[in-house]
Amino acid sequence: MSHSLNKLVNFNRALASNNDLISGEVEIVGAGCGQLDLMTIKAARIVSQAEALVYDSLVSSDILSLVSVDCQRHFVGKRCGQPSYKQDDINALLAKLALQGLKVVRLKGGDPHIFGRGAEESLYLAKLGITSRFTAGITAALGCASTTGIPLTYRGTARSVTLVTGTKFDQSPTHWKGLLEAESTLVFYMGKEQATAISAGLMAVNADAKLPVAFVTNGGRPNQLITYANVCNMAEQATLIKDSGPTLIIIGEVVAVGQELATLLADIKANPQPMAEVVNG
Ligand code: SAH
Repeated sequence: MSHSLNKLVNFNRALASNNDLISGEVEIVGAGCGQLDLMTIKAARIVSQAEALVYDSLVSSDILSLVSVDCQRHFVGKRCGQPSYKQDDINALLAKLALQGLKVVRLKGGDPHIFGRGAEESLYLAKLGITSRFTAGITAALGCASTTGIPLTYRGTARSVTLVTGTKFDQSPTHWKGLLEAESTLVFYMGKEQATAISAGLMAVNADAKLPVAFVTNGGRPNQLITYANVCNMAEQATLIKDSGPTLIIIGEVVAVGQELATLLADIKANPQPMAEVVNG
């Protein structure tokens, strides 16, 4: 573990109250989007106290360095070429570990309440008489907005933001009309494989074909990739990043704002000469 990480863990332990984690209970924790440093201090502290950790594939590997050596680790994510764990099996595992009297941490990518099934697990446990609590995490929409510079709201451009699942939506015009509001940003989770359907759904309700789209792949990680498109050609662009990692789709005029900023920042990098005369008047 690096020196600074060590310091964080020690700092966290010092902050810990006695009842951070309780034996026989489950803490459902958001690991944040991308890397360790996008995790909250509370989440890092709780992970370092776990006696049993149940985690999925969106949890970055550096976060596991916080876990104590005695902690049982249970990976329940998707592994290449292997079937993913069923939700019923994960629920049963959490219950089993809690009933063994362990301090159980269920660690999920992003935030447990945003397409994270945190509440499903909590309800299942509560029905068995097992208590659970939540620790918030930075969800992918917020993590990707900051690491790409694409704002989700922007004065005069986007007054609201909608987080949408890219799986199992209906293709009725009512659904798409409801989503396509003026001055609003759409953020699709789990939508890369559905880019054709998303494009078709939006075009069918007269979305502007040029409405900007950004695919943010591996947001917050060193291999983050941004692919720009528009509503009309987004399906083609999606095929280029088919197997490249978790991807968020941001649709709205805010993407152009992020692009403009990225271009200006690239120019400054290429020609780092601040315009002193403007600042000095
Ligand atoms: N609970 C998570 C979301 C789980 S759904 C959260 O709050 O972020 C999984 C989807 O989240 C992925 O298919 C992808 O669309 C998005 N996602 C998660 N991590 C991401 C990342 N680092 N970069 C881009 N998208 C990400």
